[in-house]
Amino acid sequence: MPWDINLSGKPLKFLSRTLLFVGACLAVSTLNAADIPARVYAEPEQDYAAWLADLRAEAASRGVSAATIDAAFALAPAPLPRVIELDRSQPEFVQTFTGYMNLRMSAARIARGQRLMSEHRELFTEVQQKYGVQPHYLTSFWALESDFGQQTGGFSVLNALATLAWDPRRAQFFRDQFMAALRIIDEGHITAEGMTGSWAGAMGQLQFMPDTFEAYAVDGDGDGKIDIWKSLPDVLHSAANYLSQAGWKGDERWGREVLLPAGFDFGLAGTDIRKPVSEWNALGIRRVDGAPLGNAAIEGSIIVPAGVNGPAFLAYNNFRTTMVWNRSTFYAISVGHLADRFIGEGPIQHMPQNEERPLTREEVWEMQNLLNGLGFDAGTPDGSVGSRTREAVRAYQISRNLPPDSYVSFDLLTALRSQAPAAN
Ligand code: CA
Repeated sequence: MPWDINLSGKPLKFLSRTLLFVGACLAVSTLNAADIPARVYAEPEQDYAAWLADLRAEAASRGVSAATIDAAFALAPAPLPRVIELDRSQPEFVQTFTGYMNLRMSAARIARGQRLMSEHRELFTEVQQKYGVQPHYLTSFWALESDFGQQTGGFSVLNALATLAWDPRRAQFFRDQFMAALRIIDEGHITAEGMTGSWAGAMGQLQFMPDTFEAYAVDGDGDGKIDIWKSLPDVLHSAANYLSQAGWKGDERWGREVLLPAGFDFGLAGTDIRKPVSEWNALGIRRVDGAPLGNAAIEGSIIVPAGVNGPAFLAYNNFRTTMVWNRSTFYAISVGHLADRFIGEGPIQHMPQNEERPLTREEVWEMQNLLNGLGFDAGTPDGSVGSRTREAVRAYQISRNLPPDSYVSFDLLTALRSQAPAAN
């Protein structure tokens, strides 16, 4: 899964504010969404029908059967405007850790996962014996990808992929995915009509892209077909095979919430730094109940997903493996934490005390301008938080003797506003 696709992105309601700011290299200005330069997207160079004819010829030249080509291309007669729109849409708010977790954790979901683990105990045991992935983690991936198979996306994968392959933005990537989808149909795993998924072509109960399917999906029930849409044995065997090949350790947990000692050096946080648990223990990191960490030789990283005012986690190898599946830190914590909840562990103890206030794109744009104005290179302001913005935040925090957690928050914006050089 190349992206963490937020299927439930409900807009959060906040009063829009007129932001007044003064920047060294900007005239005094009133900022609103219209001031953020719109991203410009190239439009397709070729008429869709002509383009599709070329794609069809390419499929034939690559040995895809005529029957598959007929069935597949009949499903993609025209591009889907909704898919283009979703691909180009930008989130209105920066997602906060609290908001992300609240959308994904619920008592009902925990109860349902526990019930399903017990209902399919034999299957989970069989999968664990074969691939070494514990049932509660598999259940967690299953919950987060498709709400246990209930939300797999209602798009025709072929039509969605053809649309995105025609659009120039990531054309080659999606063209390759389309070809992979044709091969999957050609091998008889699924019909062209049955190949449904998300607007971006993520398929079935695991939301596998076609190339992920080809690399990792397996036939769990032995009927000769790999059906990650409807066969639960195929779904669970495929997920476990992926995780096992990505390095999952069946005898380790994902990580745990920890307490950081007073004066902890936040320069040691982040996935770049790995130390044996014994070393973290020597640095004063404790279990959330205050107990020592023990002397396990396994390595972990300290993760502070909501900055210094939120919880801290010591994340082990399986957390890194989860980030192979999905690069998002929030996603990896949600997988681990939900798995913990399935086996009866408690909620995260140190969530931020007040609901974090999400930043709007305009506010991020303002923050980037302020950082640039103060000499911290946040790159060309674009209203979205990337690694360059985080690096600028970190450099700013270090320069002001603030804990360098790189966390983009409303408090940080407030501090930056108060320090912006006055215009003259
Ligand atoms: Ca099967």
